[in-house]
Amino acid sequence: MSCPGLLVVLSGPGGVGKDTLIQMLLPRDPRLRYSVSYTTRPRRPYEVPGEHYYFVDEATFRRLAGEGKFLEHAVVNGHLYGTLESWVEGARREGKDVILKIDVQGAEQVRRRRPDALLIFISPPSMEELLRRRERRGVETPEEMQARQRLAEVEMSYAGRYDHVVVNDDAERAVCRVQAILEDERRRRGRSGACGTAGEGGG
Ligand code: 5GP
Repeated sequence: MSCPGLLVVLSGPGGVGKDTLIQMLLPRDPRLRYSVSYTTRPRRPYEVPGEHYYFVDEATFRRLAGEGKFLEHAVVNGHLYGTLESWVEGARREGKDVILKIDVQGAEQVRRRRPDALLIFISPPSMEELLRRRERRGVETPEEMQARQRLAEVEMSYAGRYDHVVVNDDAERAVCRVQAILEDERRRRGRSGACGTAGEGGG
């Protein structure tokens, strides 16, 4: 039987470019699988159900949560978001590394429940640049924009709790840094080749 894959958490304030980084990362890393979250947020026009999110109503979400189906779940910007545990663990059992794109509350839950998870925080070069990127994306109303900028400031205060902080100053550079972190972790855990125990020492 193969050893379970890595559980990788990617967080960072909205608009920092997490989606782009994941889109660039997945085709370069055949061992990596993206966990599609459940949410009660309304679908944006460009979003594909089952690809970006599973869009469900609140009753369905609460039923799944009540049945303990989520590895983590949280309210973000007034909407519910959650990660389906069975999918994540199924993929890991097959030896795949799984990446979650979740907020800081979800990351804390994952840290508690899966202490071996690898937590990566994506940071903008500055808060001004973050605002500019979200304005360019143009999917938020001015009210959402204000609320999300406040939330971004709170999220930034969690960066120090992550195993790694990657500044997304340039998408290509940031993806390369994330790839290097994953490769390093696989080597450290003895997973670059055959399954093994975590290799210690040697910094
Ligand atoms: P958006 O609605 O813009 O796609 O995402 C808003 C926030 O929700 C982002 O910070 C994203 O990381 C977070 N998020 C997306 N899926 C999940 C999830 O399954 N769990 C948690 N805790 N947060 C999530």
